[in-house]
Amino acid sequence: MLIKNGTLVTLGEKNEIIPEGAVLVREDYIADLGSSVELAARYPDEDVLNARGKLVMPGLICAHTHFYGAFARGMAIPGEPPANFPQILERLWWRLDKALDYEDIRYSALVCLIDAIRHGTTCLIDHHASPNAIDGSLDVIAEAVEEAGVRACLCYEVTDRDGAERAKAGIRENVRFIKKVQGYKGAKVQRGYLESYILNLITCTFGLHASLTLSDETLEECVTAARDLGVGFHIHVAEDIADVEDSIRRSGMRVVERLAKLGILGPKTIAAHCVHLNEREMEILKGTDTKVVHNPRSNMNNAVGTADVPAMLGRGVLVGLGNDGFSNNMFVEMHAAYLVHKLAKRDPRVMGADQVLRMAFQNNAQIASLFWPERPLGEISIGAHADIVLVDYNPITPLTDSNFPWHIIFGVDGTGIDTVIVGGRLLMKGGKLLTLDEEEICARAKELARKVWRRISRISATN
Ligand SMILES: [Zn+2]
Repeated sequence: MLIKNGTLVTLGEKNEIIPEGAVLVREDYIADLGSSVELAARYPDEDVLNARGKLVMPGLICAHTHFYGAFARGMAIPGEPPANFPQILERLWWRLDKALDYEDIRYSALVCLIDAIRHGTTCLIDHHASPNAIDGSLDVIAEAVEEAGVRACLCYEVTDRDGAERAKAGIRENVRFIKKVQGYKGAKVQRGYLESYILNLITCTFGLHASLTLSDETLEECVTAARDLGVGFHIHVAEDIADVEDSIRRSGMRVVERLAKLGILGPKTIAAHCVHLNEREMEILKGTDTKVVHNPRSNMNNAVGTADVPAMLGRGVLVGLGNDGFSNNMFVEMHAAYLVHKLAKRDPRVMGADQVLRMAFQNNAQIASLFWPERPLGEISIGAHADIVLVDYNPITPLTDSNFPWHIIFGVDGTGIDTVIVGGRLLMKGGKLLTLDEEEICARAKELARKVWRRISRISATN
């Protein structure tokens, strides 16, 4: 497939804008790029996808999300409004997760995946919880992801908050699913392109909720299991001050110190949030090469504080960008990241658009490369995964290699995504979804969401 006549934005280490550019996609990777005239002459027999009037750019990556949160949209939390983060967890999220059965998990994931494709998010790192439907829950999500055709890294969040039995079940689910995926990876080379592509979409890590709901004993058990499997962790870290206070009470240490001592941190571990850190903890994150994921919309919504991302980046900590279950439109998350630090520091020089794009593309690509190491992601380059989006954008000011980040912040909001390609396969073309039946999914999701809301009211009434 030859995508031509668009404005090519390569991103990657050195962003290049190629007006009237073209990209050649072969199987699941990018085989060539350059000017449309050159490539049309070089590959006269290719099927052509006309990108006139559009930016052609890499698919967006979301480095921390919760597919299970979709049914919370518009839901009034029963009782008094939560006044702090622990109350938000108890009254909203820990009631929602308990109310989910397997069909809810499937449709919650599917509606997120529709939203992701519609906004050009082609790779998502999910963190799942459903204490009344643990065994096999990751298979249900994997099936939805395969149907959608995007990339996703899945895990189950182990926690002690629902008792020892469910903590064990959470560990079991991670171990079972990781072994299954690792088995797939071995089989992949034997298979044809399409089958390999599907198997390659899904990957996995070991999920943990957060320090404040995990005992040393449970964490030690997880470390042993993950070590045997050669994987890292995906965990919420110091999202709220309550996590820090709990860690000091339990261990005499702050959250990052406690997790480091127990062997949770490391180059394959994703630490979401990191809002309440001191300098020593930032040094530990840097020293262990732990990957941090910033979720500005969620942090503002929960009023937990502003992560000192400029300080972390300044110290060389790798910080990416996630949505923590907000809409799967990463353009909006970039806008939030651009704005919040300026306000928090009362300094308009803080967090330039170039830094925001670096987090969203290069840093997120580095995090994603832990799970899809075969080819580069987050850039349009020869040999990279063919994860490409076409977005309607007619700039009214000059568009250059260096000012492109400011065009994203002030001109592109994700609603203009027109065409989405993952691993060389078209998932949306001209605004029409090709892999998912949006009407059926939304209709069924609406029925299920009503039932989930009723169950949450019952759970709330008994608490
Ligand atoms: Zn989260």
